[in-house]
Amino acid sequence: MIIIMLGAPGTGKGTVASILSQELEIPQVSTGDIFRKNIKEKTELGIIADKYISKGNLVPDEITIDIVKNRLNDDDVKNGIILDGFPRTVAQAEALDKILEEKGKKVDIVLNLETPEDEIIERIVNRRVCSNQDCKAVYNLILNPPKVEGICDKCGSKLIQRQDDNVETVKLRFENYIKQTSPLVEYYKNNGVLQTETVSKSINKLGKDVAEEVVEILKRK
Ligand code: AMP
Repeated sequence: MIIIMLGAPGTGKGTVASILSQELEIPQVSTGDIFRKNIKEKTELGIIADKYISKGNLVPDEITIDIVKNRLNDDDVKNGIILDGFPRTVAQAEALDKILEEKGKKVDIVLNLETPEDEIIERIVNRRVCSNQDCKAVYNLILNPPKVEGICDKCGSKLIQRQDDNVETVKLRFENYIKQTSPLVEYYKNNGVLQTETVSKSINKLGKDVAEEVVEILKRK
């Protein structure tokens, strides 16, 4: 099963993807995580990606498509994958369709998460992530705080704030989402695979609630 997580930054794509990954037993692949790992390790890819990410811009399509194309050849994604943060442009979506077609596969469901804009900023500036690359648990200081301040409940590692999770960069990331990524809503609607879900405290629905709902829907299919 090929699942795509779509949505503006801070809508909870990573949280939903991580629950779906555990419940459905398919790997979650986040292009953002791949870039962050490379930035931390100061690889050639990391040095290039950092120039874009630190400014709130997207990493160029050629680079990002290549990473996903290679990852899709790995054995662990033979039975399915949850793409978290890819595609983010129409060119990436078209490239993905082509790569999957060559493998006799197709996108099964695109989960489009929507959150009111004022909540997005609040969610992002309060987001903390586990510094352990193998854990990557995500917290929110208001909605989902860790039991001990600054420490991951799951693995005990230090919690950190992502460098691009500041008000200034978030605004640019949101603008870029509207310009470059939001046309994908129409793209996947036309393909008949789009499922839109609202994630908002105003309706008492957080990422974990959406994930539980979607797991039920997918298990019934
Ligand atoms: P994320 O962790 O998904 O929020 O991604 C963090 C940053 O990595 C984004 O703001 C982009 O700069 C970059 N990035 C992640 N995925 C992509 C993608 N599919 N295309 C281009 N840039 C990406």
